[in-house]
Amino acid sequence: MSRAGDPLQTPFMRQYLEIKSGYPDAILFFRMGDFYELFLEDAKIAAPLMDVALTKRQGDIPMCGVPYHSADIYIQRLLGAGKKIAVAEQTVDPANPKLMSRRVVRVISAGTLIEDDLLSPGKASYLMAVAGDLRRPGVALADISTGEFFALEAAAVDSDVESDLTLSLRDIYYSRRPGEILAAGPMIEHLKKLLAETGVQITPLEAYRASVSEGWRRIEASFAVKPKALGFEEDHAALGAVSLILHYLDQAFPEKRPQLEAPSFRESTAQHLMLDERTIRNLNLFEPAETSVLSLFSCRTAPGRRALRDCILRPLIEDAQINDRLDAVEHLIQKADTSRALYDALGTVFDLERILSRVDGGRCRPGDFRSVISTVRAAVDIASILREAVPFAFFKVDSSLIAFADDLDTEIVEEPAALPGASPFLRDGRNAALDDARKARTEGARWILDLEEKERNATGISTLKIRFNRVTGYYIEISKGQTQNAPDHYERKQTLVTGERYTTPELKEIERKILSADAVIEEAEQAAFDRLVVELQKHRTPLRRMMQSIASVDVLLAFSHIARQARWVRPEIVQTGEITLEESRHPVVEKFLPTGVRFTANDVRLNRTDRSFALLTGPNMAGKSTYIRQVALIQLLAQVGSFVPARRARITPVDRIFTRIGAQDDLARGESTFFVEMLETSAILRRFTPRSLIIMDEVGRGTSTYDGLSIAWAIAEFLTEGAMRPAVLFATHYHELTALEERTGFVNLTMDVRESDGRVIFLHRVKEGVADRSYGIHVARLAGLPGPVVDRASELLQAFEERSLRESEALELRGTPGLDWSPGAIKAKTAEAPNEQTANPNAREEGRNPTKKQRLR
Ligand code: ADP
Repeated sequence: MSRAGDPLQTPFMRQYLEIKSGYPDAILFFRMGDFYELFLEDAKIAAPLMDVALTKRQGDIPMCGVPYHSADIYIQRLLGAGKKIAVAEQTVDPANPKLMSRRVVRVISAGTLIEDDLLSPGKASYLMAVAGDLRRPGVALADISTGEFFALEAAAVDSDVESDLTLSLRDIYYSRRPGEILAAGPMIEHLKKLLAETGVQITPLEAYRASVSEGWRRIEASFAVKPKALGFEEDHAALGAVSLILHYLDQAFPEKRPQLEAPSFRESTAQHLMLDERTIRNLNLFEPAETSVLSLFSCRTAPGRRALRDCILRPLIEDAQINDRLDAVEHLIQKADTSRALYDALGTVFDLERILSRVDGGRCRPGDFRSVISTVRAAVDIASILREAVPFAFFKVDSSLIAFADDLDTEIVEEPAALPGASPFLRDGRNAALDDARKARTEGARWILDLEEKERNATGISTLKIRFNRVTGYYIEISKGQTQNAPDHYERKQTLVTGERYTTPELKEIERKILSADAVIEEAEQAAFDRLVVELQKHRTPLRRMMQSIASVDVLLAFSHIARQARWVRPEIVQTGEITLEESRHPVVEKFLPTGVRFTANDVRLNRTDRSFALLTGPNMAGKSTYIRQVALIQLLAQVGSFVPARRARITPVDRIFTRIGAQDDLARGESTFFVEMLETSAILRRFTPRSLIIMDEVGRGTSTYDGLSIAWAIAEFLTEGAMRPAVLFATHYHELTALEERTGFVNLTMDVRESDGRVIFLHRVKEGVADRSYGIHVARLAGLPGPVVDRASELLQAFEERSLRESEALELRGTPGLDWSPGAIKAKTAEAPNEQTANPNAREEGRNPTKKQRLR
């Protein structure tokens, strides 16, 4: 075909280039038989990323290829490198049957995966879109592998709202971890900066695609429902984000976009406790995977594992909702038989959410129907196990689904073939033509055996065989030494090194019958398959609902398992403002203590009146961080509807848990640790409400001692001001803060430490009161520091203490009268002196000695 001229001008390459021109930013996988081939620049870029050899076609055209059946592995490598892949499949062009034509059926990017091999089963795979301006970003999130689709408004980027309870874009990113983010307009650059350290793929789209009216129109067109009914207002920026997602998916699936639920607008504040990025990370909710809070629970099914994540991300606020879950968990704990039976039933549940999206994406497999049958029947079992249990009134299976599963079961064999159109798929007795063809097929096999026998006898050649292959069809094979005995009416078909292959008129006739039966079978199986795919798609909505119910049961069962196993108790949900825990534990630290070491349980007593602010002092490694995290975690678990690790618990739901802990990983973001610490602290101080819980660890540590102390001191004052105060746990090494004891709601707690036989023992026990200051010097002595050094240190310590006491008294005197801590006054002050330096230039010098002192302690 190729003339001596330009190799790019062959009909084949012209077709390639035309298709490629439609997808300039994607790597084009061009289907050729059993391979996907890549050419030109694409080949040069992709070959090293996929780790395959780069070769040449027709002399000059760079190319590489991967086998079609293992393409997912290579696609994964390209996705990992941040690439998009356009997949062009072969189609026969009726106008020109000689030239195989091709068309792009799918564009794969990190946010648009439906392939099982590329997805992780227990984790939603989100595509996120951000639209609107920086003051009011609208966000949409879709998981096309399950159909989940929702939108929300994020907090203004430069938020200075006093008590802003909306999530920021970073919060949303870290809670959902989308694989890809679509953005338009100024959002593109903003997100690139904001999320630089995450390396997430940000895909820019044209600004007009993110318009609110476009979103409104698309929702009406795609889902036949008024956006208002889904919670949207006419001017919601989130509509623009919805539009971006729908547009992008239309491009990614040119043939047919996977079905999504109609997008609902989620009020981000109303019903759920807010968890921001920091809290998710600080409390190790999801990472590191092996020691995360998530890892404490084990769900039986993949939809259950995804629902569990979602539950943890969106703890409840309403007493009644929390108690509903707790009732269910309690029921499961009490009824061991029920929970065992449920566990067994869940074992035959398949991931229908993902199967349904695969079906929509044209990747249904015959075995998927058996998964549907099995899962619907499991749901029926679960429903009957739960029938008597009041807390599970929500669980119902649509009768239409039961009938559908029964129909499928009467039609489809127990173990269908792997591929659509292959046999067996339909049961016998469903289709007369199919039954006849199958009979012909079995008889045909019999005829072949009989003929083989007959020919052996007639020729006397005992090694004569009748065999089949796709290229030659049926043939009689005679091995080399015997070919001279072949009868004359044998027609030679093929000569091999090992012998000859023949056919006869009789064999040809049998072959014709068998092959026509094969064609009838394939056609009938394929038609049945196609019909049932359509049926299955009709049942999508009730199936999704059923899966959500199953997932909820799975989650509640996981809650009950750990509660029983690790002796957790049901928290009493109250509205007194208190959090009262007896003998509470940190579930993760407890689980990973070395064998033989017991976790020391601790009490917690906080409220919003006389014990709203607990200052926790004590030496390093005494258990301060563990304690304050444990309180936050138990608060969270209770609001998720789980039992909690304690002997007794009374808990008031909070609207938000704020955490300010360590900042080691922020160095990567290029901001100084201290600056980040202050940014976070500032966000907390501006946003908390009297219903919030705040935990702070070592605030002020990142700067010189007096600087840090002053800041910590002022924060402590701020949080103990006014009549309605948040609940606060504040761990610190600034001993001076214990002097704030007189303030309303302020209590001093400390970690108990003992010395025995010259060794220091951390008891990890929290007690009321103030730590012994000379403890650090004590440790230094035990460690064998020379006597004169220890003595001098004690002397210095005393001097510093006297000085800091005098200073703090002075501070208090100066600070107290007429001090206005109202947010308005603070704002006014900030505005007066915007550039005022917090740090005294001499502070470092002044702070040097005390820093050393700190180290000694
Ligand atoms: P700090 O914040 O005071 O430096 P941590 O809370 O980090 O101390 O605790 C240090 C270590 O002590 C933990 O890693 C854990 O192994 C152990 N620990 C902490 N609290 C307890 C406890 N209540 N019971 C048993 N061991 C504990």
